[in-house]
Amino acid sequence: MNPTDLVTRLRVLVRAGLTRPLAWRTQQLRQLRALLTECGPDIAAALYADLHKPEKECYDYEIDFVVREIDHLLTHLESWLTPEPVPTAGYGYPDGTTASTRYDPLGVVLVIGTWNYPVQLLLAPIAGALAGGNTVVAKPSDIAQATSALFSRLLPQYFDADTLVVVEGGVAETTALLAQRFDHIFFTGGGTVGRVVMTAAAEHLTPVTLELGGKSPAFVDRDADLTEIATRLASAKFSNAGQTCVAPDYVLTDPDTATALETALPSAISKRFGADPATSPQYGRIVSQRHFDRLVALLDSGRLVTGGEHDRAQNYLAPTVLTDVAPDSPVMQQEIFGPILPIVIVEDLTHAIEFINDRDKPLALYAFTNSDTTRERLVTETTSGGISFGLPMAQLRDSDLPFGGVGASGMGHYHGRYSLETFSHKKAILDVPLS
Ligand code: NAD
Repeated sequence: MNPTDLVTRLRVLVRAGLTRPLAWRTQQLRQLRALLTECGPDIAAALYADLHKPEKECYDYEIDFVVREIDHLLTHLESWLTPEPVPTAGYGYPDGTTASTRYDPLGVVLVIGTWNYPVQLLLAPIAGALAGGNTVVAKPSDIAQATSALFSRLLPQYFDADTLVVVEGGVAETTALLAQRFDHIFFTGGGTVGRVVMTAAAEHLTPVTLELGGKSPAFVDRDADLTEIATRLASAKFSNAGQTCVAPDYVLTDPDTATALETALPSAISKRFGADPATSPQYGRIVSQRHFDRLVALLDSGRLVTGGEHDRAQNYLAPTVLTDVAPDSPVMQQEIFGPILPIVIVEDLTHAIEFINDRDKPLALYAFTNSDTTRERLVTETTSGGISFGLPMAQLRDSDLPFGGVGASGMGHYHGRYSLETFSHKKAILDVPLS
């Protein structure tokens, strides 16, 4: 079916008001939940084919992650959809006037996913779109081929063709979709394609959510316990072989702490992945040779602390730590999106804050510190999509927290109630008595 007819067909239920009732929304969410719980092994196999993703990560960050998000929506949706009364006193209305707000569905939503978490980043936005009473075109990433093919087969088994349709493909197919009039476009990916999406959306005045990336710093304070910090840093950085939008991109710390991390980080890495990560079932692979080549070219920056081994035939790049990395070195000029952790040495917290504020606003900021003053300074003197003290990437798992970027790291947010807000129009309703 051509994209225009597809969108026309997906508009029918919405126009008829059939997607508005709570029962329709919860039924769709239950279908999505059923897909995830019934097809776990198939999904894990596709993720292994695409990314060598360890089974535990498939469940923790993909399948169970979305199930939790759906359960959160199912628990709260009814109360969130209840119209909210608004005060009318003081505006000079006649007695008996009432005012309220309620969430309207937007219509037909396009969700464009990306390859690094190809389940979570396609299905969590879809859950939000369905909770909002919308129908959906799902465009998985062509780079995660096995997962894309699996969704193209599975989603039609769980959803009617007038509710959710999968369109597979790359630039040509996405360009054809973007020419259509959607009611919202939810895009996850890089800033370059984000601009393409926003430009196409402008043609129809379609609102967009852009979940982008960037370099997320991790500040390590001099007073903190480095063994535990190194464990948490290594776990967040090297999961999915570093191909995570909210992974700590680089460490900012003082000279003494940097020296101590030269011992603590390699030890944390070998504790997690063994002496040879190439043989560890817990360690992933780089998604493509293009990304592999891009990453290997970054290894010359700074001084190698550990890692660096690579095998192009396997798209394998060992967990790597570099130190004494200069701010103008290649690894600091782009989002790394791979298993390379540079340590950039700064004098103190004030210089770290300046370093962060001199660059694009990050998707996430991480800090390890025991000092309330340091925490407060980082919260109030920097801007980022989110900030997590003590445990990188955990902010993403909490459905009560909004997830999204700011500035170059994106616009808009989702998860939990924020998904309902993103995929709805909050309508103002004023009712003035006629007599
Ligand atoms: P990408 O921007 O290349 O691709 C994302 C999607 O856009 C894919 O579905 C792809 O098929 C499509 N696409 C690619 N080129 C296109 C074009 N010219 N026109 C229309 N559509 C096109 O992104 P990527 O390399 O797959 O992902 C890496 C980036 O995504 C990183 O910057 C990362 O930080 C970011 N990211 C962000 C989040 C988040 O939640 N904020 C999550 C994961 C990844």
